[in-house]
Amino acid sequence: MNTIFVTGGAGFIGSAVIRYLLKNTSIIIINIDKLTYAGNLNSVPKILIEKNKERYFFEKIDICNKLELKKLFLRYKPDGVMHLAAESHVDRSIDNADDFINTNIIGTYNLLDVSRYYLSSIDNTKYKNFKFHHVSTDEVYGDLKPHDESFKEETKYDPSSPYAASKASSDHLTRAWARTYGLPIVISNCSNNYGPFHFPEKLIPISIINAIKGNHLPVYGNGQQIRDWLYVDDHAEALVKVFTKGKLGETYNIGGNNEVKNIDVVMYICNLLDKKVKRKPFNILSFSNLIKYVDDRPGHDMRYSINNSKIKNSLGWSPKETFDTGIEKTVDWFLNNRQWWEDILKSKYNLTRLGNKIKSEI
Ligand code: NAD
Repeated sequence: MNTIFVTGGAGFIGSAVIRYLLKNTSIIIINIDKLTYAGNLNSVPKILIEKNKERYFFEKIDICNKLELKKLFLRYKPDGVMHLAAESHVDRSIDNADDFINTNIIGTYNLLDVSRYYLSSIDNTKYKNFKFHHVSTDEVYGDLKPHDESFKEETKYDPSSPYAASKASSDHLTRAWARTYGLPIVISNCSNNYGPFHFPEKLIPISIINAIKGNHLPVYGNGQQIRDWLYVDDHAEALVKVFTKGKLGETYNIGGNNEVKNIDVVMYICNLLDKKVKRKPFNILSFSNLIKYVDDRPGHDMRYSINNSKIKNSLGWSPKETFDTGIEKTVDWFLNNRQWWEDILKSKYNLTRLGNKIKSEI
């Protein structure tokens, strides 16, 4: 692979993939991102870009714009696409699903179809090496009861939220383009990510930030929902493995082997902050005093759990971080990189979303 497109490279996971590729490969990267509220070019540090300026390019493009996508393919002639651009926040999809339908379904369709036309117009050798990697979520499988088996690649789709349904649609489109047109694809479905550069609307960053600021720590319902947490840099490494070594037409589930209840996630954070922050706001004894239970999300899935034996056995990947090590790295990152999240909080986004409402998203 010489040149690849990474869509959504200004987002949480896309930027981790780009940081990984810049540090560990010599691939030329075209970051294609519309820069929605969730996109942030500061998530690929300037110093890393400066060091790699001959092989990192940014294109501010909406993947819903097919014509612009066609022009990009003709201009850069990529050897593959890692497709991460998406609307990804479940709560927002419940408020209004328009952008989810457009970006996740129509945008993915555009990329698949433009890839197909592009491949039909170039020589065979390049076609053989091309790969379209669709990055998806375990939420397409719906939720599990406490003693159900973890999600396997064969688990039937049963999405609960508009977000999950839009991702399920895009997975189906990707498989249809492989089966009908022979597009060389791989798909990965991953569990909940956490780590540095996580947008301050999701459970882990919002809990750390609210605690530092002395605000309530919102927990949905009774906090008993279980997620299988994966440290974002482990996901980035897995994605590059799937993209470079994954077998065409296959799906790989990616998970962290870290099932933790939401309330326990917040307690982990409080305990770490109790140790690390000397001056607590309002002289509280523990950050856990700030926990506040809020109305549950409609249709909230109870449990996600990934069986990751396929990627482990066939591609030799397994997560490096346990939840203990990953959550401590994450808390340290948010304590030491205040400017990154303060800039987001200062933006208009904060006034309409975080400032007035206590919301967590998982
Ligand atoms: P994110 O919301 O942090 O980033 C998405 C990026 O896509 C942003 O930079 C945004 O500007 C860009 N984007 C949105 N609409 C676009 C459009 N129309 N055209 C071009 N760019 C657009 O999301 P994330 O958490 O980094 O997730 C990346 C991918 O991984 C998504 O496909 C998501 O479904 C999947 N995923 C996420 C998680 C998770 O825990 N965050 C878990 C499993 C799978």
